[in-house]
Amino acid sequence: MPAIGAKRVAVIGAGMVGVCAASWLQRDGHSVFLVEAGEPGKGASFGNAGCLNGSSVTPMSMPGVLRNVPRWLFDPLGPLSLRWSYMPTITPWLVRFIRAGSPEKVRAQARALRPLVGPSLEALHPLVAAADAEDLVHRLGHLHVYRSAESLAKDRLAWELRRENGVEVDEFDADELRQLEPALSRDYVRGLLVRENGHTSNPLALVERLLGHFLRSGGELVRTRAHGFRLDGGRLAAIRTGSGDLPADAAVVCAGAYSKPLAAALGDRVPLETERGYHLMIRDPEVMPRIPTADADGKFVATPMETGLRFAGTVELAGLAAPPEWRRARILLDQGRKMLPGLPASHPEERISMWMGHRPSLPDSLPVLGPSRATPDVIYAFGHGHVGMTAAPMTGKVVAELVSGRPPSIDITPFSVGRFA
Ligand SMILES: Cc1cc2nc3c(=O)[nH]c(=O)nc-3n(C[C@H](O)[C@H](O)[C@H](O)COP(=O)(O)OP(=O)(O)OC[C@H]3O[C@@H](n4cnc5c(N)ncnc54)[C@H](O)[C@@H]3O)c2cc1C
Repeated sequence: MPAIGAKRVAVIGAGMVGVCAASWLQRDGHSVFLVEAGEPGKGASFGNAGCLNGSSVTPMSMPGVLRNVPRWLFDPLGPLSLRWSYMPTITPWLVRFIRAGSPEKVRAQARALRPLVGPSLEALHPLVAAADAEDLVHRLGHLHVYRSAESLAKDRLAWELRRENGVEVDEFDADELRQLEPALSRDYVRGLLVRENGHTSNPLALVERLLGHFLRSGGELVRTRAHGFRLDGGRLAAIRTGSGDLPADAAVVCAGAYSKPLAAALGDRVPLETERGYHLMIRDPEVMPRIPTADADGKFVATPMETGLRFAGTVELAGLAAPPEWRRARILLDQGRKMLPGLPASHPEERISMWMGHRPSLPDSLPVLGPSRATPDVIYAFGHGHVGMTAAPMTGKVVAELVSGRPPSIDITPFSVGRFA
């Protein structure tokens, strides 16, 4: 028996964001169906570093980014690469990205992000408890390591932003770092530990477990592609899909990097791009860090996963269609071996696996979260960039509040789609 005020809600995209939104909506008593064009959990939510970092408030575009970009682009080991053929397409996004990096703007972005990412583990907990997935989520902290005091000094503003937003940090010198994480190279001289942070040791399994619980609780999964919406007098009547129109009272767009045409179908133009990222995994590694560990200079993370050791990171600007450049993933292995000298110089290929995925990124490092401008019945929840795993639980909670007609528990005005108009 549906609850009073219960709606039929279509959630488009079964990644971490979609599955969290569907779960929270279902807990509110709505009749929910997920619409997925590919495989649930096999988009960006599959291969990320698994960090659930409430401290992730630092935008990607920071003051001085313009100074660093050329150095990164010409360094084959660098964290950023750009396919030159993609330059004309990405230029307007890059201009917005650089403009977003002023000192005042990054402070506002960090303030906006903290309520979305800070309560990540708390907002995830009821979902994982119900789905019997507590073994996949850990709160052991996140370690950032530096090779010199100078490189730590370059990150001064990032640490200021975290601290200003209530993140507590413990700092370690070289000796303390060795005791904390003996597997790490002795080249690292500084470590900053954020104890509040967590991680999942299997992002795909986490999405699948949450999805399994959603389905067992009466939710549906429709395997088709959503194309748009049918409105009737400014209210949603149905979503348009490859399998025909599916009637719905409300819809949520959680299609990650593929959300742009769905927003465009309602007349909302969003500068959504993909920041392509890679991972390389070693099965049965000789050593692993105990907790996710980020190399601040290399801008990659080493995460101990159930399935092996995962090195994840890098940003490649080349669009949704270009084939993967696996050299980018191999670079992560070279860097990982430097981080963890206990790893041998070579591994049999059957123990190595690689992946490329599409971060859904807006130039100001904030997602779009809130109603479309054409109708209050379609809620956008996409564009979480580098922090989508972390932000998904609170995003889902806010989506449920909006669909149920309650005021959102956090300020979502900075995430409005209207900011790009
Ligand atoms: C290398 C790397 C490392 C990362 N590390 C972290 C990390 O440590 N912590 C963190 O918080 N974040 C991390 N991220 C970011 C994070 O992975 C993403 O922000 C997050 O997974 C996005 O989730 P999503 O559900 O929005 O998108 P996705 O997981 O991509 O899901 C979108 C789904 O929508 C489906 N879809 C698309 N279009 C349609 C359509 N028209 N109709 C129906 N279905 C459709 C897709 O098939 C897909 O399943 C990382 C990303 C990368 C690439």
